[in-house]
Amino acid sequence: MADFIESTTLLNIPELGYAPPEVPVLAPARQVSEISVLLNSLDEAAAESGQSLAATRKSSHEEKLIQARLGMASGLYTALRAKHPQSASHSLRVALGCSSWAAILQLDDETRDLLEVAALLHDVGKIGVPEKILLKPGRLTPEESVLMSRHAAHTMEVLASSGAPQSLLEIVQYSRSWFNGEGRNQDRQGQDLPLASRMLSIIDAFDSMTTDQLYRPARSRERALAELFEFAGNQFDPDLVRQLQAVFSHDQNLLTDKLARRWLHRLPKEGNVLPWAMVPAEHTAQLASTEQLMFDATNSLFEKKLVDNMHDGVIFVDSQCMILLWNTGVERLTGVSSAAACGRTLLPNLMDMCNNREQRLTNEECPVAHAISTGVQWLGRVSIMGRQGHHVAVDLHAIPVRSVDGAIHGATVLLHDVSSETSLEEKCQALHAQVAKDPMTQVANRAEFDRMLNNFVAAHQESNLPCSLIMSDLDHFKSINDTHGHQAGDAAIITFASLLKTMCRSGDLVARYGGEEFAILCADCTNAAAARKAESIRKALSEVKQQVLGNAAITASFGVTELQTGDTPETMLRRADRALLQAKDQGRNQVVQLGDGMMEEKVKRSWWPFQSLRGSALVEANLVTMVPIEVAIQKLRGFIADQDAKIVKTNENELQLVVTGANRRASDRPVTFQIHLKLSQQRSERTNTQGFAAGAYAETRVQVVIHPRRDRDRRREATMDKARRLLGSLKSYLMAREADEVPTAAEPVATAE
Ligand code: GH3
Ligand code: MG
Ligand code: MG
Repeated sequence: MADFIESTTLLNIPELGYAPPEVPVLAPARQVSEISVLLNSLDEAAAESGQSLAATRKSSHEEKLIQARLGMASGLYTALRAKHPQSASHSLRVALGCSSWAAILQLDDETRDLLEVAALLHDVGKIGVPEKILLKPGRLTPEESVLMSRHAAHTMEVLASSGAPQSLLEIVQYSRSWFNGEGRNQDRQGQDLPLASRMLSIIDAFDSMTTDQLYRPARSRERALAELFEFAGNQFDPDLVRQLQAVFSHDQNLLTDKLARRWLHRLPKEGNVLPWAMVPAEHTAQLASTEQLMFDATNSLFEKKLVDNMHDGVIFVDSQCMILLWNTGVERLTGVSSAAACGRTLLPNLMDMCNNREQRLTNEECPVAHAISTGVQWLGRVSIMGRQGHHVAVDLHAIPVRSVDGAIHGATVLLHDVSSETSLEEKCQALHAQVAKDPMTQVANRAEFDRMLNNFVAAHQESNLPCSLIMSDLDHFKSINDTHGHQAGDAAIITFASLLKTMCRSGDLVARYGGEEFAILCADCTNAAAARKAESIRKALSEVKQQVLGNAAITASFGVTELQTGDTPETMLRRADRALLQAKDQGRNQVVQLGDGMMEEKVKRSWWPFQSLRGSALVEANLVTMVPIEVAIQKLRGFIADQDAKIVKTNENELQLVVTGANRRASDRPVTFQIHLKLSQQRSERTNTQGFAAGAYAETRVQVVIHPRRDRDRRREATMDKARRLLGSLKSYLMAREADEVPTAAEPVATAE
């Protein structure tokens, strides 16, 4: 994240010198009714996910003051969306998250309305940042960072000059303040900061962390929460962080697309797409740009399927080299997600492109720009930065795209990987071809899944590539059988299986795990990507009318997890199962993601703790996790459940477990270990290291001692390896580091994308 520094900048709002206009009636009545529909549907969405809610909104909700604010909000939001769609969708997600959180906290309507609008517009000042900085593919230079950081000041100016009320300005202004008052020029701190600001600051950071950025894949939800804890007391209000964790532990869908989609879902019926999209339908057709036309074309189902399933990378750019499409092939090649790439400028430095003499291409030598400016195709061998951090040789083919009148509208870029080693994906595909199928659904059967899970885990651990597991189970299927008969039930299962197959990549494995339960192994796929995939499957299923069920739709629940350090096939499967159970508990028809993942592992140095072969301990470690003790215990429960550990003794905050260490090879004899854990919560003053502001925060220390149960196992070579892997697993679950390691996250949590 290039511009995290901005979060520390506190702004001096220019004195307004006038009272904000009382109630300028800017918003037509039509719009207001849409907003209430929107808010009501949000409430419904939250209600469906089992949340307690604020009292139903009264008609007083449609007060004039709100009308005024929304009138302004729509215009400004539309402008932001036109300038920088990524910032606009980030703001919308933040607004949704703040709104649902406010409902759960039962904040009064006025605060909630203000918070929603503040969240929606907290980045509106990006309108004032030059495009070449907003869309720059690489890291910002210090000079550019300064320009970027001005967006905070722009935001205040734009809001103030549009007549935003003082209370709204304050929420936005103080959302950039640090809780401990250590931000620059801060005149308030702690509880004196508006509650809405403190909430906005947290949701803003959370959304930024869980969204793909060009230089950093999205973090898992659990990891993002752990980061919030790390900065609780300094940057964030620790009580609010704790509250958010409590909300998340029983409902992960606070900020997810699912809620956003539901929120928006109702609107088209009301005759408009978004409350803030003010362009009437006739205009939209007129204004349809070249990009829009190209998007429409690619949206054609067949083409989209083809492009998405191609092994080769495909990129579409417009005449300014702005990326319009970035298929899964390029995602796989570069490790950069489509979400992070689209909207950026395709320049050689985006991919660290080198010619075949290993010289970096300058931006002026860009083959794609060359094809666009000359109208002549370019075909040649270059190398680009691959996802594993080394260059990969590719054949690049840039083909200019012309319209009938001869004007050049952009280019199609094909990237063909010519590096000789067969990819893991291909190996997986070869294995996939041999699967034994379930006769009814024609997907892999349970036995095949078990075998493939072992292969996947071993292969991905070796290659250090991410891989994820999605478990899904149809909701209330017994009653479907009861109502429509077993045969109709079978047909619905078959439809679900074929939907899963069509929605997965060719390297993925879809298996029928049992009755109406399916497992999907996703090769080379992170937690965040797998959760997105599960979410799109969930949505698609809920929209398919099942003929055999009298055109009713069925739904399914999903549990998602990524392979993490110390995992065995069993721990990964159990974690996915726990996530699925949680999705069922939370009300079904939803996706829950658990676990940390591989890319998250931050500390590479001194990974293994002090190892003592004296006495009986095989591995000893002092771990620190930046969460309060009750959260640490909750995470420990996951470890115990997934490792199938037995609790043999507990004593206040001490715990003794027995667990059988994972085997790398099936031929290994299992070793049983005893793990002693001692947990203590500490409230320490963070010292002012590395520019950190001081402040109180809670952390949990965990003393770990692991030794084999039987002494003769000690001499076996594999024993040490297994004990270390158990410790690695424990660290992943607790998101802990060694006590003597310097925290690597010495940067404040980013607030903007
Ligand atoms: P939920 O998962 O939402 O908690 O509720 P459920 O009703 O789906 O409960 P559960 O998963 O425990 O029950 C699965 C039911 O699915 C049991 C069985 O009647 C039905 N089922 C399992 N396999 C098949 C099958 O091959 N064909 C049909 N028609 N039904 C099946
Ligand atoms: Mg079921
Ligand atoms: Mg079931």
